[in-house]
Amino acid sequence: MSQVRILNLEIDNYSMQEFLEELESGVVFTPNVDHLMKLQHDVQFMEAYQAVEYKVCDSKVLIYASRLLGKPLKEKLSGSDLFPAFYTFHKHNPDIRIFLLGAAAGVAETAQQNINTKVGRDIIVGTYSPPYGFETDQKECDRIIEMVQDSGANVLAVGLGAPKQEMFIYKYRHAFPTIKIFLAIGATIDFEAE
Ligand code: UDP
Repeated sequence: MSQVRILNLEIDNYSMQEFLEELESGVVFTPNVDHLMKLQHDVQFMEAYQAVEYKVCDSKVLIYASRLLGKPLKEKLSGSDLFPAFYTFHKHNPDIRIFLLGAAAGVAETAQQNINTKVGRDIIVGTYSPPYGFETDQKECDRIIEMVQDSGANVLAVGLGAPKQEMFIYKYRHAFPTIKIFLAIGATIDFEAE
């Protein structure tokens, strides 16, 4: 798989189908223009980005930029494109069990119901909408880790907005022993609840 460099970031050049077939484990971030601007000066955000296995394009603007650079990115794989494609791809795969972390209270549960109805099985095994500022509360983070583990999930979809979701995954990925795939999905939980 090739990568396309835009400013200081190498972006993976996958089509959606290629990526769904490839993704078995690791952390997925979905860079857009805001991320790229932040990556010009935010050292911690860059550290988080450097630690991930996958960076797939979340932006039409970055696709246009890649064309101007003569190395066109194949497709936009934003969280809101990738997440429904992911659970649909794994519709009949009992080895995929997802936990939704993020969005306002009640919203993630509605998304869970909608998705499970659509997929026809309980692919979303748990949800939690953490309170504002939770990421600085160690007890709350420990509780989340326990909750996710108890749910039996092996995929954690984190919808806390950037950079909170990326920094949370960077800090805690190794504290989730059962999770094999982490997806940073922005506001996708809200869309799935509509
Ligand atoms: N969010 C959250 N906790 C927070 C901040 C944000 O759960 O402390 C959720 C918010 O409810 C929304 C998502 O994170 O569902 C972020 O949306 P935004 O549009 O900021 O994300 P983007 O797609 O731009 O990264």
